[in-house]
Amino acid sequence: SIRALASKQTTTLAVVVKCRPLCEKERQRNRDIVRVNDNKEIVILDPDLSKDYLERVQNRTKEKKYCFDYAFGPESANLDVYKTSVLSKVAGVIQGLNTTVFAYGSTGSGKTYTMAGTRDDPGLMVLSLHTIFDLIKSDCSSDAFEVTCSYLEVYNEVIYDLLEKSSGHLELREDPEHGTVVAGLRCIKVHSADRILELLNQGNSRRKTESTEANATSSRSHAVLEITVKRRQRNQYQNQVIRGKLALVDLAGSERASETNNHGQKLRDGANINRSLLALANCINALGKQQKKGLAYVPYRNSKLTRILKDGLSGNSRTVMIATVSPSDNQYHHTVNTLKYADRAK
Ligand code: ADP
Ligand code: MG
Repeated sequence: SIRALASKQTTTLAVVVKCRPLCEKERQRNRDIVRVNDNKEIVILDPDLSKDYLERVQNRTKEKKYCFDYAFGPESANLDVYKTSVLSKVAGVIQGLNTTVFAYGSTGSGKTYTMAGTRDDPGLMVLSLHTIFDLIKSDCSSDAFEVTCSYLEVYNEVIYDLLEKSSGHLELREDPEHGTVVAGLRCIKVHSADRILELLNQGNSRRKTESTEANATSSRSHAVLEITVKRRQRNQYQNQVIRGKLALVDLAGSERASETNNHGQKLRDGANINRSLLALANCINALGKQQKKGLAYVPYRNSKLTRILKDGLSGNSRTVMIATVSPSDNQYHHTVNTLKYADRAK
């Protein structure tokens, strides 16, 4: 039946929330208003309430509570998120399946920390590459593997190469064999995961950032790391090539998108709003509907970002959305907006 066919073709979507710790400055001035229970449930206390703890605990109606596939609190490492939510999907990439993982949240909520990470707490980009090379090493077929990476940025609907020192504007092209491709994007062969953190840091320092108020630097750019594993099967029956793609996306700050969302407007592009972020949000909503109800139209063509990610979001792809939030009381509205959004996607 069409229904069965549709469910077979449906992207699976997992929604995960990660709350970062309060930073040093916040510890002096702000309160922690987020609690995570059993790695599933996240609770946000209304910061306008009396600061008396008992009163807060007793007045449950002033809390907002959400449940996700997984929820991680400030004590969790990137590795915890990775093991529960990303690892199994990365294993599929070796078998030719596509996966997209993205970090969604307001500026300062921990998107870049989650995706790139640090030396002590490597992010999902680095951990994924480690898994890919471990799996290739322990693969006992006689297949030949090739791993390539590209790292690009979408800023104001213009694509730049983050692996180039001074990248010009890159254009999208429709290729009959490979689908939508970014013409001229540098694609490097990678032989181990070791050098990638350095490349990512270099790439990240090339990202375009924009200063908003006094001391805030807000990022309006999306960074997309794409890892392609090409597997040439060699046995007596076959000599074919299969390709699996893993896209890891550090999205622009969601604050502008959620502002529009807040006022009951339908998600659409406007003068000051990030077109790619809204288009992705619309695609994720459609994928969520598809997962629940079967067929749904997914509007991939509305932005550069969604065109680039289409392969990794459609067909039999697996998608992981990681919503990042701050525990600080002054971020209350951003946190609620992010969780509301993530809640609708699941
Ligand atoms: P975003 O990319 O969403 O704007 P960042 O990843 O830059 O946010 O995080 C904002 C700040 O919080 C950075 O100083 C970062 O080092 C810190 N931070 C984020 N997540 C964690 C974490 N899990 N542990 C420690 N510090 C974190
Ligand atoms: Mg960032």
